[in-house]
Amino acid sequence: MPVTSNRLRLVVTACAVLAAAVPVLLSLAYARHDARGRVQERARIYAAEVLHRSDSTAAQAQSAVDRLSALPGDPCSASHLALMREIDVDSSYLQAVGHVEGGRLTCSSLGEGGAPLPLGPVTLTSPAGAELRTDVRLSQQGPTFVVVEEHGYAAVLHKQLPLDVANDTGELSIATFSIPSGIVLTQRGEVSADAIRRSARGRVVTLVEDGRATAVAGSKKWYIGTVAALAPAALHREEARSRRLFLPIGLLLGLALAALVLLLGRRRLGTAAGLRAALRSHEFYLEYQPVVDLQTADVIGAEALLRWRRPDGQRMRPDVFLAVAEDVGLMPQITRRVLELVRADWDRLTVGRQGFHLAVNVSAKDIDDAPTVELLTRLRDLRNGSIIIEVTESSVLDRQRAAAVLSRLRSCGLQVAIDDFGTGYSSLSYLQTLPVDYLKIDKSFVDSVGVGAATSNVAVHIIDMARALDLRLIAEGVETEEQASFLRSHSVQYAQGWLFGRPVGLDSWPWNVAPS
Ligand code: C2E
Ligand code: CA
Ligand code: CA
Repeated sequence: MPVTSNRLRLVVTACAVLAAAVPVLLSLAYARHDARGRVQERARIYAAEVLHRSDSTAAQAQSAVDRLSALPGDPCSASHLALMREIDVDSSYLQAVGHVEGGRLTCSSLGEGGAPLPLGPVTLTSPAGAELRTDVRLSQQGPTFVVVEEHGYAAVLHKQLPLDVANDTGELSIATFSIPSGIVLTQRGEVSADAIRRSARGRVVTLVEDGRATAVAGSKKWYIGTVAALAPAALHREEARSRRLFLPIGLLLGLALAALVLLLGRRRLGTAAGLRAALRSHEFYLEYQPVVDLQTADVIGAEALLRWRRPDGQRMRPDVFLAVAEDVGLMPQITRRVLELVRADWDRLTVGRQGFHLAVNVSAKDIDDAPTVELLTRLRDLRNGSIIIEVTESSVLDRQRAAAVLSRLRSCGLQVAIDDFGTGYSSLSYLQTLPVDYLKIDKSFVDSVGVGAATSNVAVHIIDMARALDLRLIAEGVETEEQASFLRSHSVQYAQGWLFGRPVGLDSWPWNVAPS
């Protein structure tokens, strides 16, 4: 088995592995994305819940201060103390309310008497002007509280109550903090300063940081933010669950795709093997499509188009089997066969004619293949006409090399045409450096003629370009009289297409001139 088929087999196997791997990798990536989304959503719900409680706490504190300041008289009067007790009873989030003077709680809802209680240093002043202390003890052994002071009145806030959202897994860390200072007010578990820094009023941000799904929410009304972070274990669990769901789908899809690739690959390998057999058992033949002079409507030549009829009678499109031939390195043998067929058909095709032009297609590989070029030059010995070698723009990768080969062919009496012109990177400067006789206007531009498509301008542009370079034009794929008269009126010399004749085998070639 030739090396080239092994290479194709290797490519097919690699493609199959890739086809299997891609959906699997995608399913894993999607499972991760899906899990992250869900855990972040849970963190967002916790952060929002804590924010709701914090908002209520702040509202209760504000209302307490406002009501006490509105009451005239001594701030520790009996009526004030009564109001303090009433507020205390009514406000679920407040531990106490009282009056502050010089940093000491002089009286409060907790009862009269006793020395004024020092509250300690102010931790921060909110942008709205309230002074906050975050570590205040009302008794030596008791818990610490947050104290908000404004207009001489203070609200003592529970630290744990706002954080009291249901999560008994121990995976949830939550905190409330002040915007924009970022100073933590209350906290349970570890939260990152980085996450807090992302907070903004009235906005929720979710992220995954060090494997922890985190949500940061900012209050619309107060300068309070909350952060909720779930331990990496929560994400791991969710990812495992998502994987169980999506990985089987990815595996199934991967297997199906790999099977498809193998099937197509086997078909291609089959084509490659078929091509070799076809070369041995002469399954190739040529069809000829007439090329006419647009002014006189005379058939002045033809294009040779390769055909493959398989033993079962099936015909395969040349662009399909030629692509495989190109892949497995069979192009030189195929072109050699085409040239043999041209020689064999030549006399019948040109009988009774002078100056018949037969166009032969060659591929990029042919131009680089010295033995093929040598065979092409030998076509000079054909009588009663000449050969046009059709190359596409894409086959001219190394322009200097191609120019040298094409010059050699021309010096042997062959002519050169650029096939499918306009579909590649054609430019004036590109053409100037190539020794060329004809441009073949690609069918796509001929199709657009007269239908008002933007590309119909391209046809005119190509015509102008050819004229500037003194090249002759052959329009391809002419199907309607309208296209033909457009081309004629633009002085395009030659055309081929179904309007004038489809490709036919030599036996059906109707343009023979009887020998005189
Ligand atoms: P190409 O060189 O552009 O050949 C013209 C293609 O357009 C041919 O298709 C022809 O049958 C088709 N055609 C001609 N007139 C019309 C028309 O009016 N309307 C429509 N719709 N189509 C039209 P085909 O024979 O299938 O060949 C396809 C391609 O295969 C060729 O395109 C050429 O690139 C390649 N090819 C064919 N024979 C050979 C060969 O011997 N050697 C090489 N290297 N390539 C070849
Ligand atoms: Ca062609
Ligand atoms: Ca063409």
